[in-house]
Amino acid sequence: MSDNPFFAPSTLVYELPPFAEIREEHYRPAFDRGMADQLAEAAAIAANPEPPTFENTVVALERSGAVLRRVTAAFFNQDSSDTTPGIQELDAEISPRLAAHADAIHLDAALFARLDALHAARHELGLDAESLRLLERRHTAFVRAGARLDADGQRRLREINAELAADAAAFRKNTHDASLAGAVAVDSAAALDGLSATAVAAAAENARALGQDGRWVLSLKNFSNQSELAALTDRALRERLLTASLRRGLDTNGPLAARMAALRAERAALLGHPSHASYVVADETAGTVEAVSAMLGRLVAPAVANAEREAADLAAAAAADGIAELAAHDWAFYAEKVRAERYEVDTAALRPYFELERVLRDGVFHAANLAYGLTFTERPDLTAYHPDARVFEVFDADGSALGLFIGDFHARESKRGGAWMNELVPQSRLLGTRPVVVNNLNIARPAPGEAALLSWDEVRTLFHEFGHALHGLFSDVHYPSFAGTEVPRDFVEFPSQVNEMWMTRPEVLAHYARHHVTGEPLDAAVVERMLAAENYGQGFRTVEYLAAALLDWAWHTRTAADPVVADPEEFEARALAGAGIALAAVPPRYRTGYFNHVFSNGYSAGYYAYIWSEVLDAETVEWFGANGRGVRESGQLFRERLLSRGGSRDALECVRDVLGREPEIGPLLARRGLE
Ligand SMILES: [Zn+2]
Repeated sequence: MSDNPFFAPSTLVYELPPFAEIREEHYRPAFDRGMADQLAEAAAIAANPEPPTFENTVVALERSGAVLRRVTAAFFNQDSSDTTPGIQELDAEISPRLAAHADAIHLDAALFARLDALHAARHELGLDAESLRLLERRHTAFVRAGARLDADGQRRLREINAELAADAAAFRKNTHDASLAGAVAVDSAAALDGLSATAVAAAAENARALGQDGRWVLSLKNFSNQSELAALTDRALRERLLTASLRRGLDTNGPLAARMAALRAERAALLGHPSHASYVVADETAGTVEAVSAMLGRLVAPAVANAEREAADLAAAAAADGIAELAAHDWAFYAEKVRAERYEVDTAALRPYFELERVLRDGVFHAANLAYGLTFTERPDLTAYHPDARVFEVFDADGSALGLFIGDFHARESKRGGAWMNELVPQSRLLGTRPVVVNNLNIARPAPGEAALLSWDEVRTLFHEFGHALHGLFSDVHYPSFAGTEVPRDFVEFPSQVNEMWMTRPEVLAHYARHHVTGEPLDAAVVERMLAAENYGQGFRTVEYLAAALLDWAWHTRTAADPVVADPEEFEARALAGAGIALAAVPPRYRTGYFNHVFSNGYSAGYYAYIWSEVLDAETVEWFGANGRGVRESGQLFRERLLSRGGSRDALECVRDVLGREPEIGPLLARRGLE
């Protein structure tokens, strides 16, 4: 198949993958060839009769696997954004093979011997700082992947990795299937009383797309507390919707998660760690299980106290409606009521001021212009992977071209839930590549002819994901291993969280928040009240997040000696109670059955990272534009010292370089009302 578009570098601008030519049947042969090529390259490096040098070993490895890099980026992008049964089947086949492929390289004794020799002599090699770091990081990666294990240990490790990769793919598929199956259908629009006319129309549209003409379907979003719960007046329907959400995947993914946790514990033991969490955080900025446990533990009691205070208010409001006991499916509904009464905000009434196109161009892009001088030009001449995915060329302050940004904002059945950023092409001076980054969201598609109006949370998500995009776009490193977001997991959310600040900075908000029909600006007083109302909900938000983080932590601090969990639901209940965060009315943001972050998307023992990096975020937001430094000047410093460095420098060194001191937790505690 010489016409396989993955075999040669793309000839399009920025090496944008040639999506117009890529067909599903190209993936398998490209994976076959990509893995074979890279194995041959690795074997040649290992068998090189010349003594090892940084160039002939580390750089050669860095250059290897070009075909595999191209097909992997395109394939997993499609698997997330526009999957098909064929793609899912191939994922199930390819994921274990990719794990075995990585093992074949990391467990190649001759290759590791060269790397080990170089590592021992690393300070005498005359390497620049980024090259020295690459050697150290590569060496660590080999050791962490089992390069020092004996033959028996390596054999077992390979088995575990293959099983875990297959399990992760199965978990992904189960979540997708269970979310579709759990969608809640009703037979009359009246049943959806409380939802906006747009939301009701979207539910009808949704039903049509699913072949259920004449009905109304609420699809499940990937997290527990479905957004419609805030508005639906029918209490029984609220209960039905939340139950469908909380129970999805329990029967299929529950046992799978238990098995995965046991395998991960066994692997950690092989590699000299008491638990998977210990193994994971050893390579993160957190460093130890104790550091993470202490941080999460410190937040639990004040967060629970806040949530209980909120619950008392909500119970009073519910009692007025004759509800004796506030249930989880009542929380969002009464929170919305209390918020509306106390702060006079009606979140649904904000939507007309948040029209997608306007938020994107006059909000997100405008903020990137104010802080970093960027400008954007849509390139309809460039084809992305789906008609919804729009391509923008990004230009630097001096007018030079920086990279491509692809925005894929709407939900569809073929897209997984949530929002994320990924890279189709990583920036690298070694490879001569410039960044091509993608943002995916799941904004409901408006009915034909209607404007796409966002919720307050969706606006925040748009700014958040664009923060990841900037991290990729500003990357200015030599080696592709360090490009953009190739940083510790408990650091990677930091730049994206920082970018959220623009959503409510007055100069940005005033620019984008305008009524989509009248053009009238959103009243500043409304924004003030909305921010106050948002602080009011911090108890709930912090508890639902911490509960999920502690659930992840409970699964992954188990040791290899612990028996496989027989009853995942009971395990969950005990884990939450044990952590002091079992509130019946506040379920964890994710339950085991659909916790894709930790069972299929690489965040195992890593969900704590969001609040961990929020410490840095809260500090940086205070720093940005402070001390008489303008926003543009702050942006430049933040870009030079941190965003552009990707993984090429120690993450916390970058932070100290920006702040001029060690980060502290105070601003986070204040922001979340946890003092
Ligand atoms: Zn993020």
